[in-house]
Amino acid sequence: MTLPSDSLSSPYYKEPGPKLDKESPFESMMERFRFAATVLELEEGMFQYLSNPVKSVTVSIPIIMDNGKIRVFEGHRVIHDNVLGPAKGGIRYKPDVTLDEVKALAAWMTWKCAVVNVPFGGAKGAIRCNPKELSLRELEQVTRRYTSEMMDVIGPDRDIPAPDMNTNEQVMAWIMDTYSMHARKTENAVVTGKPVVLGGSKGRKEATGRGVVTVTLAALNKSGIMANKCTVAIQGFGNVGSVTARLLYEQGARIIAISDISGGYHNSNGIDIVRALDYAAGHGGSLEGFDGAEAISNEALLELECDVLIPAALQDQINKRNAGQIKAKIIVEGANGPVTASADSILDEAGIMIIPDILANAGGVTVSYFEWVQNRHGYFWTEDRVNRRLNRMMREAFHRLFDVKEQYGITLRQAAYVYAIGKVAETLRLRGIYA
Ligand code: NAD
Repeated sequence: MTLPSDSLSSPYYKEPGPKLDKESPFESMMERFRFAATVLELEEGMFQYLSNPVKSVTVSIPIIMDNGKIRVFEGHRVIHDNVLGPAKGGIRYKPDVTLDEVKALAAWMTWKCAVVNVPFGGAKGAIRCNPKELSLRELEQVTRRYTSEMMDVIGPDRDIPAPDMNTNEQVMAWIMDTYSMHARKTENAVVTGKPVVLGGSKGRKEATGRGVVTVTLAALNKSGIMANKCTVAIQGFGNVGSVTARLLYEQGARIIAISDISGGYHNSNGIDIVRALDYAAGHGGSLEGFDGAEAISNEALLELECDVLIPAALQDQINKRNAGQIKAKIIVEGANGPVTASADSILDEAGIMIIPDILANAGGVTVSYFEWVQNRHGYFWTEDRVNRRLNRMMREAFHRLFDVKEQYGITLRQAAYVYAIGKVAETLRLRGIYA
């Protein structure tokens, strides 16, 4: 479906929202949001409502450093939307983080949760700091003071943080403990991504890669390609890339290329992924020097002839410069924002199916939702139950979006935004505007 160009230049669809770099993945997200708003003929007020966060809180975080001096950090928490339920989104520690970046990431979470029918709104948090320059004690103080300043924002029924860039299980444990001390009771449902002994969910670590594989298998099936006959190239061999590689390998797929920051590794006969995982485990997580394949560049990996290409490392990897060289039949976005908006139309014209990030990597937030459910029940599931329910939700989401894609004659990415925005807008119309 193509829209008349003037529909996208309507003044209210040009509402700026957060100020972002034109080529950034967030601007790409906003462009897709505007397109979906046009398809849905969203009324102006609704468009403005969904373009702006409902709450945006900035706090000062003073702590006593190890040298005895006071230092003040800046912390943010943005709730983009809580129409579907309590808000959900990670907290990142980053020296150059801006409020605009946090606002954009919070909106991204709203669409991601809506796509997989997880009953959460979207949020994101950040502290402007470089964790590598902080001692463990300083990191704990920063985390605890941020949590105590955000007591009225976060909460199991309000807004549930999770790990993101430079934050981990330990940071979540400190948040949970600080919140619980203030609440005078243990509240493990206030964060997800906790250690399993503190109420974390089994299967959480592998969830994103597992979800990537579920939607990849569904897409292969739609394309009439057998999983055990397909060829796959994967960029990134971290949490998402390595789990994806292992599970697809177990399905009999031929993984012809893998990569990490050290470069790409290509073997057209297929890479022994068990060997690659062992190699990385024995080399501090790096593939550098892996001899089960020929060395290629990360850029060349993206342009290999294969059935499925899975960018699972960084944003902005497939853009208008290299989109014309992509030979894969299906691209599955394991990473957030690996394909820019300007590359979308080139890939679409070449007949390449893209499974968009807000669907493909939503397995993580889905199992975060399961963690929250288990915490609230005080009853914990087996890993097998977590995996079965995750697979079901991801498969259902894929087919739901495929139906929307067929209904409107649009791409799967456009369908994801149309579905998510339509769902939040419809819920808001029913709830109404409280005044
Ligand atoms: P990670 O840090 O575990 O792994 C990142 C991988 O990318 C590593 O193998 C690293 O070597 C590689 N890499 C870094 N720079 C590279 C470069 N220039 N070229 C090629 N490879 C490079 O991270 P992760 O958790 O696997 O996340 C990967 C992506 O998936 C990110 O975009 C992240 O936002 C997204 N994501 C992750 C999750 C999750 O649950 N982990 C959920 C949703 C989205």
